Amino acid sequence: ENTTVVIIGAGVSGLTLATFLQKSGMPCILVERRDRAYIEMRQRAGVVDARAVRMFEQWGLADKLLFGPVAQTIDYRLNGCSRVFEVTGEDGSPGRFCTQQMLVTNLMREFIDVMKGDIRFGATDVTILNEDGICPQVNYTDVDGSHVLHCNYIIGCDGDLGVSRASIPHGVLTKYSHEFGYAWLAALVETPLTGHAIMAVSDHGFVAQLPRGPQRSRFYLQCSLGDRPQDWPDERLWDEIRLRLGDLAIENVKVHDKLFVPLRSVIHAPMQYRNLFLSGDAAHLVPPASAKGMNLALYDIDVLSQALLCAIRDNDTSALENYSDTVLPHLWNYQDFSVWMTDTMHDAGDPTQHGTFKQMTARARLDNLFNSPTAASMHSQYQRGTN
Ligand code: FAD
Repeated sequence: ENTTVVIIGAGVSGLTLATFLQKSGMPCILVERRDRAYIEMRQRAGVVDARAVRMFEQWGLADKLLFGPVAQTIDYRLNGCSRVFEVTGEDGSPGRFCTQQMLVTNLMREFIDVMKGDIRFGATDVTILNEDGICPQVNYTDVDGSHVLHCNYIIGCDGDLGVSRASIPHGVLTKYSHEFGYAWLAALVETPLTGHAIMAVSDHGFVAQLPRGPQRSRFYLQCSLGDRPQDWPDERLWDEIRLRLGDLAIENVKVHDKLFVPLRSVIHAPMQYRNLFLSGDAAHLVPPASAKGMNLALYDIDVLSQALLCAIRDNDTSALENYSDTVLPHLWNYQDFSVWMTDTMHDAGDPTQHGTFKQMTARARLDNLFNSPTAASMHSQYQRGTN
């Protein structure tokens, strides 16, 4: 079978690219190892930042895919005392509220049901042939047997553990990584966040509460790297939330899931090899403190979709050849923001973790957001994704 672009992975980046290409009349096939129901159930990020909103607006898709504007406020709470930071900025729309699960579900509807796009679910044993002088090829197996897809370009959107990056010969990519030495317990609970998003620093450690739909929110609690679900029964979870938020009135409600996320930052560069291009978690990871993982995946697709269109439509491959060099400065900039957020939120909290000197300098950094218009403006731009 022949097509122009094969995309591996129908997560947020793969589906966004497929939808843009399909809208442009560019033949593409999406190959995904899971089924549709599984993908539509996967709950992760919650907010599409202002930069990504602008991209969807330019494609005429924002109102079809996203919900209303997010509250432009963050409660940076310190030992139970609220301090509300206002995200400012006059450069276009604010971020939009839309869980990753809803964005993926809406993209799926747009690509498959509305645009009649070609997606191959349940694909196993996906392999890539990407050698000089040979037409790029993706092979996979499904319930009907083995399949071979010939194409011009292969796009790896299959996350950190996918096959795309793993297919690149050893020594081509450099891995840059940083381990923070602690983890977050992410708990999805049946209680809406009615006020501001909360990032709370306390002497007992860090906790965040972020919106996840009209009925639910997600708590993130700093915990030890080796912690397991049995270390965190619901009673302990709620006791720690009350303690760290400084709010004894919070009641225990239903907990839907608990995930442990080791905090780390990674970039694999360059993000391309011959006719294979990597996007999203396949090329980079950021700790969740910055809420940028999904938004950086969308940034890659913004650049890559335009570069692919220039190459295929106009026969101009220069943007594609420069893809990695174009996106990496932005990715490093947001890695730095993620490290800033993660270090500040943790160092400012429990002094037994990183010492009282680090605690006081981190608290000074937080104070700066409220005392310095320059620091506040820069922080707003990072939150909006427009820096
Ligand atoms: P994914 O969404 O992971 O999609 C990869 C796809 O590839 C999947 O569908 C997978 O099934 C498929 N696949 C994998 N291997 C293969 C294979 N061999 N063959 C075929 N298909 C394959 N980001 C934010 O911006 N804000 C947040 O608040 C936020 N919170 C998060 C909370 C949690 C608990 C987690 C885990 C992540 C969070 N993120 C957040 C990060 C965000 O979810 C990811 O950065 C984002 O999903 C990356 O998108 P992607 O398309 O690159 O990968």
